[in-house]
Amino acid sequence: MCDGFYKVREGKYGLFGGCSKFPNCKSTLKISDLIFNFFVIKGINIYKWEKECYKCKNITFVYSYFLYYELEELDEIFSINHGIGIGDISWIDNLLTQQIKTIKKCFSKTTNSSYIANTCSNCGALQGRNYVVSDPHEIITDLWHDHTMYKYLHKNIPVTNNDFQLLFNFREIF
Ligand SMILES: [Zn+2]
Ligand SMILES: [Zn+2]
Repeated sequence: MCDGFYKVREGKYGLFGGCSKFPNCKSTLKISDLIFNFFVIKGINIYKWEKECYKCKNITFVYSYFLYYELEELDEIFSINHGIGIGDISWIDNLLTQQIKTIKKCFSKTTNSSYIANTCSNCGALQGRNYVVSDPHEIITDLWHDHTMYKYLHKNIPVTNNDFQLLFNFREIF
C-alpha cells in the first residue's frame, strides 16, 4: 500500500476497502477487515439504558452495542442499517456475559439453540433477543435522529489486532 488510506467503496460484488489514491493505487481490502481495523482504533461502545420490565414492571438496565452507529463515521452508507446488537457477535457477547450479571445465555426451545440476552435485574425475565435493538425505544430515536448516544455510553471495550475471533465474526457478517 502507498501513503493513502482505505475507504469504503462499492463495487459489482458489494462493499470493499479501496485505496484513497485510486486510480493511482489499486490496493484493496475486504470490507470485514476494513471494519475490523476501524474498531481496533475506536473500540466497541456498549450502551446502557433503563427499561421497564414487561413482567414485574420494575426498572431494569439493558445493554447493547450498535455497531452501525459507529460505522456511520467510517462511511455514511452504513447509516441505512442499525440491526447489529446484543446476541449477534459472539466475541462481544462473551465479554458482556462475564462482565454484566444480567446478560445471560438463554435457551430457545423454538429454535433449539442458545443465545445471549438481557434479563431483568429484579425478576430475571428475559428482555428478549434483539428486543432491545428492534424495539422502538427512545434510544433508537437518538440513534437515528439526534446523535446523542453518548448519554447512554456505558463503556468502551478495546479491540486489538490479535482479537481474531472478532475478525472471524465480522467476516461472517460483512
Ligand atoms: Zn494506496
Ligand atoms: Zn422484571
